Amino acid sequence: MLPEQALALGRSKNIMREIASYGNARKALIGAENVFDFSLGNPSVPAPPCVEEAIRDLLGEDSLSIHGYTPAAGLPSFRKAIAEDLNARYDAGVDPSMVFVVCGAAPGLVACARGLMRPGEEAIAFAPFFTEYRVFVEGAGGTLVSVPPTETLLPDLDAFERAITEKTALVIVNTPNNPSGVILTPECLTRMGEILDAAQRRYGHPIYLVSDEPYRELVFEGQRVPCVLHYYANSVICYSFSKSLSLPGERIGYLAVSSRMADRQDVFDAIAGGARVCGHVNAPSLMQRVAERCLGQTSDLSAYRRNRELLYGGLTELGFDCVRPDGAFYLFMKSPEPDAKAFSERAKKYELLLVPSDDFGVGGYVRIAYCVSEETIRRSLPAFRKLAEEYHLI
Ligand code: PLP
Repeated sequence: MLPEQALALGRSKNIMREIASYGNARKALIGAENVFDFSLGNPSVPAPPCVEEAIRDLLGEDSLSIHGYTPAAGLPSFRKAIAEDLNARYDAGVDPSMVFVVCGAAPGLVACARGLMRPGEEAIAFAPFFTEYRVFVEGAGGTLVSVPPTETLLPDLDAFERAITEKTALVIVNTPNNPSGVILTPECLTRMGEILDAAQRRYGHPIYLVSDEPYRELVFEGQRVPCVLHYYANSVICYSFSKSLSLPGERIGYLAVSSRMADRQDVFDAIAGGARVCGHVNAPSLMQRVAERCLGQTSDLSAYRRNRELLYGGLTELGFDCVRPDGAFYLFMKSPEPDAKAFSERAKKYELLLVPSDDFGVGGYVRIAYCVSEETIRRSLPAFRKLAEEYHLI
């Protein structure tokens, strides 16, 4: 008998992929330039030159070592370079032995869900959250508990405090946030740390905080993402090069376990075991070497900043109510009618592909992924105008 959970998961597409498939069909029918596809978070700027230089250079080296297995936790030189980079930039105090190289943020989160919680326990995530968190947590036999946001889309910390139970094993934060673009403030992280410390004392067991940070470098106006390791001892950073180096298909990222954690070696080993049950052998050997050489560099992220200005400015002028994103490449816009799915359907009339927020754990918004060409945004604004007119916003 096929397992029902796997079958259902394999058959159901996430909402973003569903809309993207619809978009591809429309593009084939009416031409790609006439469809304003804001559905997927696929980087729209090329990888920086250091990536190509590194690949070309590395291909000249011994093939057996370039393409061979590496240690499961990653190449020692890469782990050391990651720790040095984190320590230089954030004074993070990370030890290379606490860095585990993974095949991107998604497998990193799965390794944490498998390694840091037992079946029957709970993981807390703050809405709006990346839709796959539920899949990762439930796949590990846990339950995802969603905490609602405040008006400004930061976590509601009173609700967080109430949501913690003796079954809470894991808390997942995402900064800058997909889908809202909100960055967690130092004040928010400080209070979160206090709440978690008190809860650990109350229940007599650790609660681990995993900070999912694939958009860490995608911030605007000189903002800086606070380093979670400074706010709570039992934290793990989950990082990916998918967005910062525009390498989502190459599958490379890392986990960094805090050196302030009392049981850090156990936690590291459990994460390694969590990855192992999912078939992790090692992250791509070539890409470990490429990312090592490109540490500290990014794609030209200024294109996202320009897109944000253009889109945020254009939409607010049309009367749409938008959250001004501080980072990532998503804009979260209030649906002018309570049912975001109905709004997203209506937007399709003007070839605007917007993702309704329900699967992100909050209703009443749509996500607009502005990792598209500037031209697409410019051409989409007249379509948004028609949509605004339909809702009598202007
Ligand atoms: N976490 C968040 C918030 C994301 O938006 C994504 C991808 O879009 C991931 C994790 C997965 O990233 P990766 O491609 O590194 O697995």
